[in-house]
Amino acid sequence: MSSSIETRLFINNEASEAAVPDSQAYQFVESKTEKTYKLYNPATDEFVADVHQAGAQDVDAAVAAAEAAFPAWRDTPVHVKAGLFNKLSTLISQSKEELWNLERMAMGRTFGFAHFEVMGCAGLMAQHAGIALHVQGKSSLNTPGMITFTLKQPYGVVAGILPWNVSLIMFAMKTAPALATGNCVIIKSSEKSPLGVLKVAALFKEAGFPPGVLNIVTGTGPTTGSLIASHMKIRKIAFTGSIATGKKVMAAAAASNLKNVTLELGGKSPAIIFGDADIQKAALAVQMSIHLNSGQHCQANSRVFVHESIANEFTEALVKLMTSRSIGDPSDKSVFQGPQGDKIQKERIVSILEQGKKDGTVLCGGKAADVNGKGHFIEPTIIKDVGDASILATEEIFGPVVILNTFKTDEEALERANNTEYGLYSSIYTKDVERALKFATFLEAGAVGLNCSAPTQGMDMPVSGWKQSGIGSEMHMYGVENYLQTKAVYMKYEDVPFH
Ligand code: NAD
Repeated sequence: MSSSIETRLFINNEASEAAVPDSQAYQFVESKTEKTYKLYNPATDEFVADVHQAGAQDVDAAVAAAEAAFPAWRDTPVHVKAGLFNKLSTLISQSKEELWNLERMAMGRTFGFAHFEVMGCAGLMAQHAGIALHVQGKSSLNTPGMITFTLKQPYGVVAGILPWNVSLIMFAMKTAPALATGNCVIIKSSEKSPLGVLKVAALFKEAGFPPGVLNIVTGTGPTTGSLIASHMKIRKIAFTGSIATGKKVMAAAAASNLKNVTLELGGKSPAIIFGDADIQKAALAVQMSIHLNSGQHCQANSRVFVHESIANEFTEALVKLMTSRSIGDPSDKSVFQGPQGDKIQKERIVSILEQGKKDGTVLCGGKAADVNGKGHFIEPTIIKDVGDASILATEEIFGPVVILNTFKTDEEALERANNTEYGLYSSIYTKDVERALKFATFLEAGAVGLNCSAPTQGMDMPVSGWKQSGIGSEMHMYGVENYLQTKAVYMKYEDVPFH
């Protein structure tokens, strides 16, 4: 199986004679470290592939390729770039089945979630075709004797470091705005999900993107990731991952060349269900949010506060939904819940459950799930009456685990929802417009869902983390701005005395 899967580095679209079918227009290179790491299927424990581990020489080669490609790519007309993005978008959509299989083998992606992810990735590429035409500076006559204007210009070489849970969408959220604005990019995929990203690299070449414009290095965080975060020639880095790693990336950026940093980090999102909510609709939205992708979604509503007047009815509906979905090997397309990303993720969740279960009452789940004695699955879990200081309430669990608490007053709900260091996506369910608007204003999060939960996301809406959930925003023009530097230009037409 491993021989048919691409696991090498994608640098400068470089040709490597070895192991490339001659009909293929794209090629990859082996790591100069000559080191690889092993990838296992988290649903079956089967060996999937040996993946190349990029070292300093590889990262330097990727940066050199990006540097060399930059002037020509920067000056490529927007309509030419737009054509490439549109072709790429079509190729990605057409590769849905293959991308699903690669992500499934690496980290247990279900077919249903793969559809969401691949179409999201393709959509983002299409969205960025021609988006650079909306990038414009400003002019003014406010400086006496001068016409002044600003220029928005690319950094040159920029980088993105990806998580494994939604790697293709995160890949698109970083590469598309960077490339559309004329930058050249180095991407480090997650060591847990490198395969789909490498397939998309091949599609970049097939779409006609020139060599060096996109480079992908695979490898682990402390080696390949930190080499990128501290590289002196990379001027901007966009990171998505955990808070702990985000802090390391920021520290490395500061200690090296003070590169510009954008961080999209973890979450512990609340959903507040008021007494006037549509209970069945709210229960379904909450269940989908915490259960999709086996709960491995940064914005998932993992803390639920339900008004005491409807607590019984809502709880019954949620338990029923959580326990009625199929769990299994996602090679069966109908499976709703696949495994956790890998053994480490499963064991981390089990450990948190073991520590926290005593803090509440387990309504369902609470432990690892046995699926034919193989793989790394967690039972869908609901634990009620968990105090706000419990590890279940404070730690991002990243699994199909939701805690449920009741509240009496609006003030109490708002205070408890905001009582966290995270701030990604808060949701409320109510028919009361004034209450909805008040909560939209005072919930401390980068997004608020009124009668909806994550992953509800508009293509022109930002993704932002408040508090320790991040720095900066991505998506649409918010993301495009991340890859541009602003320059002031002064054009003098006469001497004016200084007042
Ligand atoms: P992680 O922090 O373990 O790893 C993220 C990436 O950082 C990986 O590519 C990893 O190899 C790399 N890395 C690790 N150590 C590094 C170092 N010292 N220097 C540089 N890079 C290093 O996170 P993960 O487990 O891959 O992803 C899950 C996390 O990502 C969760 O916390 C989740 O909430 C978060 N996430 C956030 C968003 C968002 O938009 N806010 C989206 C998806 C995931």
